[in-house]
Amino acid sequence: MTITQAQIKTVLHNQFGYDGFREGQAEVVNAVLEGQDTLAVLPTGAGKTLLYQLPGYLLPGTVLVVSPLLSLMQDQVSRLHERGEKRVVMLSSLQSVSERQRTLRMIAQYRFVFASPEVLAQPTVIAALRRAQISLFVVDEAHCVSQWGPDFRPEYLMLNQTIDLLNHPTVLMLTATATKAVQADVINRLGLTSNRVEHVVRSVNRSNIFLAVRECTDQQDKSAELIQLVTHIQGAGIVYFSSRKQASAFAEQLNSETSLRVAAYHAGVDQITRYKVQHQFMNNELDLICATNAFGMGIDKEDIRYVIHYHLSANLESYVQEIGRAGRDGQQSIAILLYSEGDEQIPRQLSLGNLPNERVIEGVINQQINPDDLGEMGEILSYYVANDYPAAEITRIFKERALQSEQALHIMMSYIRATTCRRSVILQYFDEAPLSHRPNCCDYDNPDNVIERLGLQTDPKLSQATQPSVSWQKKLDHLFFVKS
Ligand code: ADP
Repeated sequence: MTITQAQIKTVLHNQFGYDGFREGQAEVVNAVLEGQDTLAVLPTGAGKTLLYQLPGYLLPGTVLVVSPLLSLMQDQVSRLHERGEKRVVMLSSLQSVSERQRTLRMIAQYRFVFASPEVLAQPTVIAALRRAQISLFVVDEAHCVSQWGPDFRPEYLMLNQTIDLLNHPTVLMLTATATKAVQADVINRLGLTSNRVEHVVRSVNRSNIFLAVRECTDQQDKSAELIQLVTHIQGAGIVYFSSRKQASAFAEQLNSETSLRVAAYHAGVDQITRYKVQHQFMNNELDLICATNAFGMGIDKEDIRYVIHYHLSANLESYVQEIGRAGRDGQQSIAILLYSEGDEQIPRQLSLGNLPNERVIEGVINQQINPDDLGEMGEILSYYVANDYPAAEITRIFKERALQSEQALHIMMSYIRATTCRRSVILQYFDEAPLSHRPNCCDYDNPDNVIERLGLQTDPKLSQATQPSVSWQKKLDHLFFVKS
């Protein structure tokens, strides 16, 4: 059955209310509707969800979406519900056995089914999906399939078998950030052949986001800098922390010392509050979110004007994704990373502290240690043990992961320490051609003290005691959204 361009336009308009496609979307949708396996690398905010949702209304059968995070799935499901789509379900570990059975019995009736790779590894789930007609197999956050990607999960290695068991439906791989090596590895690991896969790859560059790094002398200086920035830059913002405690403490401090409406968002905040915070932020009832990286995936607020990192991200991929939440409306926005000497120890400890040593690996193999007690690493370890990997091999894999994390951190540090245009550092890392440096690109060539020159006002509710010293040395004067 050939689907015409007129049919595509009608669904785009009637179902989604859009007048046209955004950059890259038409190419992907056309390829998918022609049954072509496709890799789409499109920047955050490009509109990747439409790439499988629209075909869902034109293809027969069910669209299966593999997603790494429960929160991401929940968000996609509720967005579909809000649009009036009822034929959507999520297979997750949150379902009771009877609920799961009922869903699986009715699976063919759903237009969209969301599942994690772990759930898809279960034979009963595969058996039910085989009875349905899966017309499109979507791998969301596809960089997770690559062992060269920062968020690699071993369960993803089984997806090639799943694709085979489902008689190879059309495969759509979606990601915002993947180097050429990661792209090739994803395709290979899903059992596909690169030259038979349609590649729709667009630049990671978001030219409307000004890039800046502020080196601070110590944590106190960094805190002062943060207060200075959030009280001066106008519009909604996100500040990322790597510690939940600090995210909460800063939210509290900013609420009491400034006129900003601030909330914390991280895995330690209960689900109802998190939901509330998300909605208040969307409805402009909050100005600022102090968050860990648990906040952001699926956040669909167009007019976030700034993203500040109080702590650096563990890798450049995550950093680019996180700052990409700013300026989805195309308006001038800003990404600032605050760095003080030694900050890189935090992501280092977070990644190395998570890796099991040989004693723990042996303990899990001999069933003396319960992997459930080891958190996320325990899950990964269980996978290797269940698949009969010998201890030495598991140790080697984890050592390699540690090495990769270290290399990723090294690249993040080269962004921070860049003595050239920051945008070119990002583009080079993602194998893209350099762009000529423009005035509102980044901070590397703007050493003047701008705060004074701009005559910026501090927030009237900022108490005298906490007035920070004026220390922002970067040129922000062309960014017209600064509070006056
Ligand atoms: P991504 O997953 O690439 O980060 P999303 O799929 O969340 O991006 O889409 C970002 C925003 O763009 C959403 O608000 C979505 O409704 C909007 N959008 C997507 N496609 C279009 C389009 N063709 N026209 C207008 N808005 C669109």
